Amino acid sequence: MNKRTVRDLRDDQLRGKRALVRVDFNVPLDGDGGVGDDTRIRAALPTIELLRQRGARVVLLSHLGRPKGKPEARYSLAPVAKHLQTLMPRERVTFVPETDTDAAVAATTDAARDVILMENTRFLAGEEQNDAALSHSLARLGDVYVNDAFGSAHRAHASTEGLAHHLHPAVAGLLMEKELEYLGRALSNPKRPFVAVLGGAKISGKIDVIEHMLPKVDRMLIGGAMACTFFKAMGLETGKSLVEAERVDMARELLKRCGDKLVLPTDARVAASLDQPLAMQEVARDAIAATLAMFDIGRRSEQAFGQWIAAAKTVMWNGPMGVFETPPFDGGTNAIALAMADATKRGATTVVGGGDSAAAVAALGLEAQMSHVSTGGGASLEFLEGKSLPGVAALDDRGAP
Ligand code: ADP
Ligand code: MG
Repeated sequence: MNKRTVRDLRDDQLRGKRALVRVDFNVPLDGDGGVGDDTRIRAALPTIELLRQRGARVVLLSHLGRPKGKPEARYSLAPVAKHLQTLMPRERVTFVPETDTDAAVAATTDAARDVILMENTRFLAGEEQNDAALSHSLARLGDVYVNDAFGSAHRAHASTEGLAHHLHPAVAGLLMEKELEYLGRALSNPKRPFVAVLGGAKISGKIDVIEHMLPKVDRMLIGGAMACTFFKAMGLETGKSLVEAERVDMARELLKRCGDKLVLPTDARVAASLDQPLAMQEVARDAIAATLAMFDIGRRSEQAFGQWIAAAKTVMWNGPMGVFETPPFDGGTNAIALAMADATKRGATTVVGGGDSAAAVAALGLEAQMSHVSTGGGASLEFLEGKSLPGVAALDDRGAP
């Protein structure tokens, strides 16, 4: 990676110093004062632990939810600090109910605290505006800046981007490094065959991903509702399936230009509506009745996709194959997850990006059987579109003075 990371910091830059770390603790709360899914909190532990081992006090910044630039009790990070303490029982974790105040700055120099979580950055008016005065002021909270919030790196906010201009060194954390390594290596130097699996609801949200990845992949397997727009472009009956009429021409053009790389489902699981999952039928793709909708790829497609995945050395997956929230329309999605887990065992690099695909993998308990499951839905999508992430771009370059 061409950005400096925490591992590049010298001892004198950390020992006895305050590391100001932007993390992504935007987790679901359970409404009972606790944390729902703590995946994102646990994902930041390696960086926090490394900084503690190297003698730094850790000051954490994060956003939670979408408060509009002023405090809102239900978006307080207090429950997250409590949860973090349970995950690191040997450290003295404290919550500071402010962020950009002299009291907050004073808390960072208090020797009785090891790990400090400041209140929600989105309680601050200038955060989402990337206000330079706010960034400058927040820089008082630390001696070095570490960005480990991959999930927020596609947003240029004061705590995710602006700070890197006001506090140096400004380096990537371990989670950020891992995300960029897996996503970056897959795109720039993949072991081949390189197979991408794309799905989800809308082709329109993924056009840039398709365009950016098509030249790089050996095959692109298309599932989800997206496949129906391609079916329409092929002149097939799509019934009540989710088709984006204004994208049909684009799908037709893609088929003409890259038809050999695109692998579409050959069959479908269909039903009249999601309320009647038991009436599900499996039909060939040219036999979708006008009264029915495709809610998942069919079993023959599962097998075909599975074979492409089995032959691949790199697999990148974004977007479920069907309405996986409603069984039995989770069949195709589950089959992809299982095929990827097998591929990992055989030594292939398997990467999952996208919030819903990651949730599907987690629901199957297969997270540990993927090479990497990205913690950043929107950020990983923008990365796969080939966009530069502002939160990454602002960090110190390797080799810079
Ligand atoms: P990700 O978050 O992994 O990037 P998306 O947000 O693009 O994925 O898409 C996920 C959504 O797509 C899910 O809610 C799923 O129900 C929906 N979906 C997948 N296939 C279909 C389909 N055939 N018809 C309607 N919705 C679908
Ligand atoms: Mg999604």
